[in-house]
Amino acid sequence: MNRIAGASSLPSLESLQPSPRMPVLFIGHGSPMNVIEPNEFRPQWEALGLEFGEGPGARWPRPQLILCISAHWITRGWWLTGMEQPRTIHDFGGFPQALFDQQYPAPGAPAVARMLGRELQDPTQGQPLGLDDHAWGLDHGAWSVLMPMFPAADIPVLQLSLDYSRPPAEHYALGQQLRALRERGVLIVGSGNIVHNLRTMRRGASNDQAYDWALEFDQRMGGHIVQGQLDALADFLQLGELARLAHPTHDHFLPLLHAAGAVHASEAPRFFNEKFQGASISMRSVVWS
Ligand code: ZN
Repeated sequence: MNRIAGASSLPSLESLQPSPRMPVLFIGHGSPMNVIEPNEFRPQWEALGLEFGEGPGARWPRPQLILCISAHWITRGWWLTGMEQPRTIHDFGGFPQALFDQQYPAPGAPAVARMLGRELQDPTQGQPLGLDDHAWGLDHGAWSVLMPMFPAADIPVLQLSLDYSRPPAEHYALGQQLRALRERGVLIVGSGNIVHNLRTMRRGASNDQAYDWALEFDQRMGGHIVQGQLDALADFLQLGELARLAHPTHDHFLPLLHAAGAVHASEAPRFFNEKFQGASISMRSVVWS
């Protein structure tokens, strides 16, 4: 069977095996340039990747599968990627060619996607999830954080889409369905930002120049996470003007709800990259285990 250049030569993942419980990750991804430009965030993603596998700092086995919920895959209905070899999508404009040259040739896992599509229920209709075998791939919300974490690109990756038309509580509810997958070798990675306002962003602003409203929203959400009030995250729109400032559109917040839904009540959060990029993008990231 021919595969595209750079694609994994591993046999396709056919099923998931029982495993020690995987952590749940929420990664603040910020600018796509973080993957190629020197910055203070990427080294933390690289270090986190070393916590998986066989190396000296490893805490968890190598994932059998990565299930990524990216802020950048917005759909009607709820979809899983089901292609054998997801393409690297450069879903941005106005960046240097070096960013468009980046490829993350991790394989898909069509058989597992079909199985999960049947196991998981669309939280709106209670139907199986849609299976996308040609349209999407890996968008930059996924590959820009997975590349530093797992540079070999040899772990199969599926993306789960966001139905933006549906209320935040449904996103959290779908996350709750993902919880059991953590004991079948699945690493759940939500990729977005806890505060994300591009309209007010000031390029080059230092961390201590973050807006007061950005700090306030970030700290409130961080407080819910520390206190284990994860369902309260889904009520963020009740903050009214503060929520609208933090998220003029809330696509970057929804992956946090999927990740939080997959967390057990007994688990504790560990934060990293608790800083701001451009004054209005929170890079706060969370590992629950
Ligand atoms: Zn983004």
